[in-house]
Amino acid sequence: MAAANRYYYATRDPLGAAGDFTTAPEISQMFGELIGLWLADLWDRAGRPDVHYVELGPGRGTLAADALRAMARAGLTPPVHFVETSPVLAAAQRARVPGATRHDDVDALPADRPLLIVANEFFDALPVRQLIRTAAGWRERRVAWAHPLFVPVAGGPPLDALIPAHLADAPPGSVIETSPASVNIARRLARRLADQGGAALIVDYGYEGPAVGDTVQALKAHAYANPFEDPGERDLTAHVDFATLAEAAVAEGARAFGPVDQGVLLDRLGIGARAAALTAAQPARAEEIATARMRLTDAGQMGTLFKALALTAPAWPQPAAF
Ligand code: SAH
Repeated sequence: MAAANRYYYATRDPLGAAGDFTTAPEISQMFGELIGLWLADLWDRAGRPDVHYVELGPGRGTLAADALRAMARAGLTPPVHFVETSPVLAAAQRARVPGATRHDDVDALPADRPLLIVANEFFDALPVRQLIRTAAGWRERRVAWAHPLFVPVAGGPPLDALIPAHLADAPPGSVIETSPASVNIARRLARRLADQGGAALIVDYGYEGPAVGDTVQALKAHAYANPFEDPGERDLTAHVDFATLAEAAVAEGARAFGPVDQGVLLDRLGIGARAAALTAAQPARAEEIATARMRLTDAGQMGTLFKALALTAPAWPQPAAF
């Protein structure tokens, strides 16, 4: 999954109608603006310190551009840092947010100031491991090459410690996912927040686990595809276990809030007022703005499947909307 996604993101811009999937910031400017204001409010209540803006996997840079514009109206104009491995998307980000510094890894982020961190649809692209319950017990799921296809197979027994006690007796066929890569990044971000100050907003589709479920999926041209076919040519994702990320962050000394549903977050941050203001300024776009708001907040669309988790430094204020 890691190797396939590395190739996938390195070789294309997958976003938008002509690509494989669309994300919240590409649906409407309201998404990035409200996140920018959420950060500006926290920064203001933290005493307006010098900070860095950090985004993990910024895609085309659209969220950052919208957030930074809204933050500037509140007097917040921090240096910008992008953690991005794709050269194709890094080029799009440079065009959209000139002056941003790119890093390959969170360890390269500056250590001198509090960090305001945003990650939208970043963690779902990180690899997961799957454990499957077979008639003979739990096995780690592996990927085998059965010419001309990759196929999932049951491998050896996993470490007992990987199986949460309350799921140990799940029926045969049950799958449990873990994402060591995601937990590792959450830990390192949390340690930075505890050491340097600041806050993080993690938005993605996911659940509060650990739970049973095979959530690995592939998207090609906005349709579900077989994740075992055409590796590197399809977007591979897995749902994010927010409870496990929060627990990892707390263990490193950060505070965790949520997750709250994306629809609830955006309603509480005032998407209704923002949509009304945009509509008043451009009445001809009324329908498009209403549709975008619905896609972002409606329970049947992105409103409940997508969730937001907030992390803060221990001494930072309680974030809005959580
Ligand atoms: N946040 C953007 C893009 C989401 S797509 C949006 O909401 O539109 C996932 C992003 O994460 C892309 O920018 C991709 O290049 C980046 N990415 C994926 N795996 C990564 C990794 N291991 N390290 C750094 N960036 C990664």
